[in-house]
Amino acid sequence: MKKDYDYLIVGAGLFGATFAWHARQAGKRCLVVDRRPHTGGGVYDRLIEGINVHEYGPHIFHTSDEGVWRLACRFVRFNRFRLHVKANYKGRIYSLPFNLNTFREMWGTATPEEARRKLEEQRYRGEIHNLEEQALSLVGRDVYETLVKGYTEKQWGRPCRELPAFIIRRLPVRLTYDDDYFNDTWQGIPEEGYRRLVDGLLEGVEVRTGTDFSGGLDREWRRMADRLVYTGRMDEFYHGCYGWLQYRSLRFEHEVREIPDAQGTALMNYTDRGTPHTRVVEHKHFAAFGEEVRRNPVTALTREYPAAYVPGGEAYYPVNDERNNGLYARYKALAERETDVVFGGRLAEYRYYDMDRTMRSAMDAWERECRRKI
Ligand SMILES: Cc1cc2nc3c(=O)[nH]c(=O)nc-3n(C[C@H](O)[C@H](O)[C@H](O)COP(=O)(O)OP(=O)(O)OC[C@H]3O[C@@H](n4cnc5c(N)ncnc54)[C@H](O)[C@@H]3O)c2cc1C
Repeated sequence: MKKDYDYLIVGAGLFGATFAWHARQAGKRCLVVDRRPHTGGGVYDRLIEGINVHEYGPHIFHTSDEGVWRLACRFVRFNRFRLHVKANYKGRIYSLPFNLNTFREMWGTATPEEARRKLEEQRYRGEIHNLEEQALSLVGRDVYETLVKGYTEKQWGRPCRELPAFIIRRLPVRLTYDDDYFNDTWQGIPEEGYRRLVDGLLEGVEVRTGTDFSGGLDREWRRMADRLVYTGRMDEFYHGCYGWLQYRSLRFEHEVREIPDAQGTALMNYTDRGTPHTRVVEHKHFAAFGEEVRRNPVTALTREYPAAYVPGGEAYYPVNDERNNGLYARYKALAERETDVVFGGRLAEYRYYDMDRTMRSAMDAWERECRRKI
């Protein structure tokens, strides 16, 4: 008997929406459900006082993947935003990622050679047992104490000496004055917000928000659809039968202030241990530049606080240590036995994925679907 849908897609984030777009182009009937009250997943944004606010953390689109870029540009125009992050350590401002500006601010060095000498002088050369020693071996004492330690400890909720070294494999150091955060060919923020991108991808697709897959659809979906695309947590899909995967969470505090410009830049990291938040986003800087910023007399800010994950809360960052990766591998082995379920996206794959890689992963998943039919 013909079912109502070819695909039931759980999750209206970028993975689900990108997959749905491809399926719809191929004439497939899709139903997308999401437990949140809106589409877009983590990239959801909304207008506050005419300012586009990134609800779940700042999102800057950057990619060198032409296929992904072309797909995104079908639906939105990107502005010329380039990310330049600043760090505030007890009121002193430094440039990130570490570059000659940072070293000038820290030591007064001017040339690559002077900065290199300073870094070499401070580098730790002993055995590495933890994140602190790893960071000291990469960037030395001053940079570590000022820009790495406090931020990392807040992020992970533990002292750096108790964190495993693998968390920081590399700390990019640029011996040039280039402070562009990303190196990708294409970068920017969608002028009409990520909402428009996601709406474009989901145009013509039936969507039900506020609908949790675990609220009954998990038992019934095979009666409705031929195949399932699942972008939620894999441990949740299997009811935690092997135990639960660990995550770090975040808390966001949004605020509107009656001043045109609060910090002069989109993203300010707070790298000291005493300040409880890790960063402050000033959203208008994503869209407006220079004098344009002053045209709107108010500004919207978001303070980001790292938080322990509590069951039922939002899972933001996977904790990809040995225990969790091992546990995930067991779930993945179960998933590989499913013949009518496609798992994808940052939650189902238990990985941090940038937006472009999420979209690429959905495009690849669709390609595999097409090959399966032949
Ligand atoms: C703080 C932060 C900042 C980021 N900044 C950037 C950036 O600057 N640039 C960049 O490229 N990337 C960034 N990313 C990554 C980006 O957010 C992800 O690549 C993208 O959102 C992943 O999309 P997704 O569809 O895999 O997951 P999600 O967006 O999480 O979508 C999954 C959806 O599935 C739904 N769901 C889960 N389980 C169920 C269920 N049982 N029933 C119904 N619905 C369910 C969820 O509600 C969610 O909406 C950032 C991520 C974070 C956490």
